[in-house]
Amino acid sequence: MKIAFTWDYELFFGEKSGTVQNCMIKPTADLLQIAEDNNAKFTFFPDAGYLVKAKQYESALPDLELVINQIKLWDARGHETGLHIHPHWEDVSYQNNEWIHNTDRYKISDFDQSQANSIIMNYFTEIQQLISSPVRSFRAGGWCVQPFLNFRDAFVDLGISIDSTAFYGGKNTKSPYYYDFINVPNKTSYRFDKDILIENQNGLFLELPITSLRYSPLFFWRLFLLGRWDPFRHKPIGNGIPAQGGGSKKALLSKYHTLCLSADGYFISQLEKALKTARKDKKSHLVVIGHPKACTLYSLEKLNLFMSKFKEEVEFVSLNQLV
Ligand SMILES: [Zn+2]
Repeated sequence: MKIAFTWDYELFFGEKSGTVQNCMIKPTADLLQIAEDNNAKFTFFPDAGYLVKAKQYESALPDLELVINQIKLWDARGHETGLHIHPHWEDVSYQNNEWIHNTDRYKISDFDQSQANSIIMNYFTEIQQLISSPVRSFRAGGWCVQPFLNFRDAFVDLGISIDSTAFYGGKNTKSPYYYDFINVPNKTSYRFDKDILIENQNGLFLELPITSLRYSPLFFWRLFLLGRWDPFRHKPIGNGIPAQGGGSKKALLSKYHTLCLSADGYFISQLEKALKTARKDKKSHLVVIGHPKACTLYSLEKLNLFMSKFKEEVEFVSLNQLV
């Protein structure tokens, strides 16, 4: 059994982006230590748009330097780096040491094809120049990978051949998001070519979907109550405000939801159960999504415990190593 932990390395995109220290540097330093202690390789998806934009503001350069150094550090330690695109950075500005996010154009399909191509090329170049091996994996910001044709030709040119955005049964079409993975093949990996929903043995791309999981309303009651009872352990280390458009609190507390298997905060409590189910179903691997900004003291502690408990039986690998 293998588990690929994948980390989307980024600020928040709501009213407050939070600080680079809290959302990225501090929690990632802890994650890298946990990886060292447990002989694990992770995959990081740094938000390339941030790198492109931060270069343009002199007052953002000290933070940018910390981020670049951290990316180079994990690269030197053998962790994988993938391409992660939040194209709304095209419309972001920096004022009084705060990023002002505008998510009117949140996903790549909100841009015309020539704009989309230049964003993909530009963001890819920004990441690749920091990394010692070819960048091959991709995850779309906010899971907005559809229609895949917006990415396809650029990816062929750039040598991106792995996508890890889809998760079986996931759907959110509330603006600014758009993804519909209801009809994604229910597999741990499959090839596709033009449409992520259609398996194609001869396709140029390999999908390594994020493992999906059904969450009960009770899970979210626990999550919200723990946040109130014990904020010290359950409050995210990242100090920003998320962009609007996620599930409403009321819906989460009253209905089942199919979401990603996640290492964020209290979500990590489901990891051991997911591992047991995967073993029972004879699955070869799990892909877990996480965000340094959403790490909590609880989640970091749990991650370390989980990895040390299972490291003899489970290999903790990067996406590249699943291929
Ligand atoms: Zn992201």
